[in-house]
Amino acid sequence: MLLQRPVFSSPLSLVTMQATHDLNREVNCRPDCGACCIAPSITSPIPGMPQGKPAGVRCAQLLPDNRCAIFGHPERPAFCGGLQPSLEMCGPDREYAVRWLNDLERQTS
Ligand code: SF4
Ligand code: SF4
Repeated sequence: MLLQRPVFSSPLSLVTMQATHDLNREVNCRPDCGACCIAPSITSPIPGMPQGKPAGVRCAQLLPDNRCAIFGHPERPAFCGGLQPSLEMCGPDREYAVRWLNDLERQTS
């Protein structure tokens, strides 16, 4: 297989790629946040929410300390596993994450 080196057209494209990479960088989930278990809608069944979850509604599996009660269990929707923490989504605080997720919800619904 022929491996090609990436071609950058200008130094600016390098800067843009670096910025995008930084935003997509994985970060650790913040304790006591839960923004991504409240703001987005989830269309697949969740234990206690057989029809899924509307946007802005707290998931039935979100514990009072904002941890997932079914983390690692097969009943946890695939959507949740796909939503990895990132600098772009989680930002510096919960308020940022709620705003970002609300914007995403508006764009995708
Ligand atoms: S928005 Fe990010 S920090 Fe907040 S609960 Fe979700 S993954 Fe964790
Ligand atoms: S199932 Fe767990 S991870 Fe998914 S939205 Fe509910 S509390 Fe969050």
